[in-house]
Amino acid sequence: MDTVLILLHVEKDAGLAKSALEALGAAKDVAEAGGADLAVGLVGESLQVAANLIAGRRASRLLGVEGAEFGHSRYGSDIAAAEAVCRAVNPTMVIAPATSRWNRVVAGLAHRLGGRADTHVTDLVAAKGGVTISRWYYRQRMEAVLQRTQRPWVIVLETGCHAPWTGDIGTVKIELITATLTGAAKRTTVTGVKAPASGQQTIRPDAELLFVAGAGWTKKQSDGQAHAPEAESLIRGFLQLTHASLGSSKSLVDLSKDGQAVLTLMTHLNQIGQTGSTPRHLKGLSTCCHGEEPHAVGWRFISERRAVNLDPNCGWARGKTDVLYVADAFEVMRKVNALLAAKPAR
Ligand SMILES: Cc1cc2nc3c(=O)[nH]c(=O)nc-3n(C[C@H](O)[C@H](O)[C@H](O)COP(=O)(O)OP(=O)(O)OC[C@H]3O[C@@H](n4cnc5c(N)ncnc54)[C@H](O)[C@@H]3O)c2cc1C
Repeated sequence: MDTVLILLHVEKDAGLAKSALEALGAAKDVAEAGGADLAVGLVGESLQVAANLIAGRRASRLLGVEGAEFGHSRYGSDIAAAEAVCRAVNPTMVIAPATSRWNRVVAGLAHRLGGRADTHVTDLVAAKGGVTISRWYYRQRMEAVLQRTQRPWVIVLETGCHAPWTGDIGTVKIELITATLTGAAKRTTVTGVKAPASGQQTIRPDAELLFVAGAGWTKKQSDGQAHAPEAESLIRGFLQLTHASLGSSKSLVDLSKDGQAVLTLMTHLNQIGQTGSTPRHLKGLSTCCHGEEPHAVGWRFISERRAVNLDPNCGWARGKTDVLYVADAFEVMRKVNALLAAKPAR
């Protein structure tokens, strides 16, 4: 019988990220549809809290590699842990969430196991003919649906592509596996993590809404003046009120290097599009952005799109958005923020 192994790493708070539960949900569906065994492999400093969170899953085995050496992301120790779990389970398929931690090691893992790896997988379907995956190519313009004959097949599932697993919390026993770390595996020392304080964090992959700001926010307005400070305060206010994720057009993030008026809360990491990112959010609101094809291509996975632009002939008007408000985004966002602020807290 086939065995599907779901490989998860534990977060700093000892729990599991949403992406881990999404990958677990996908692995469970694939195993059930194909009549395969499901094994869960955990890696982290301490596994019990995470294991208890998924006590309600129906898996034939729950095993893991535990210890301080496995508490942080490091190629040498992560691949040793993943390999130890895989050798103990001998799976035909390994499914992992697309975290930066697993994305780094899966190719090496597949090589060590004599299998194959596919990253950036957006759909997993188990049917009679076997498992089929979907993956996008050429900056999300072409979708490929493919199968592989090589085993084990290591599949890394993108976030936001499957409903997260939900089930009972309980107390479970973990089968602990030893992963031997050579000196080379520990050569890199992790000294800490540098990240923006959570209040300043503008990229929020789990947010329901993506708010995109374009270069129009910094352009001269009807009074002949640019109003970058007001633009920044309107955008910041909206983000604080809604906890939306902040995206940008390329033109806006490029302005800083041209020495023009800029929005200080924006970096190249916010850029959405062909040469930017392709985030997944339920809804998207674009403001002061023209909606040109290289930008709109990054909206591929946004389910419901709206845009505010002064120009009725902007790119959004050509079928790229569900609703286009032909309006001044300064006026619209001033009003929206006032309405949101007046709303009783939920
Ligand atoms: C190979 C290649 C790759 C690219 N990759 C990307 C990419 O990944 N991401 C990306 O974003 N771009 C990308 N681009 C650039 C892209 O083609 C556009 O140039 C860019 O997206 C335009 O940004 P913008 O809409 O913010 O600015 P603009 O084109 O300057 O548009 C500003 C808009 O703001 C509107 N506006 C102004 N004031 C107001 C107001 N008060 N209220 C409402 N609307 C207002 C104007 O009507 C205008 O439509 C790429 C280009 C190439 C050639």
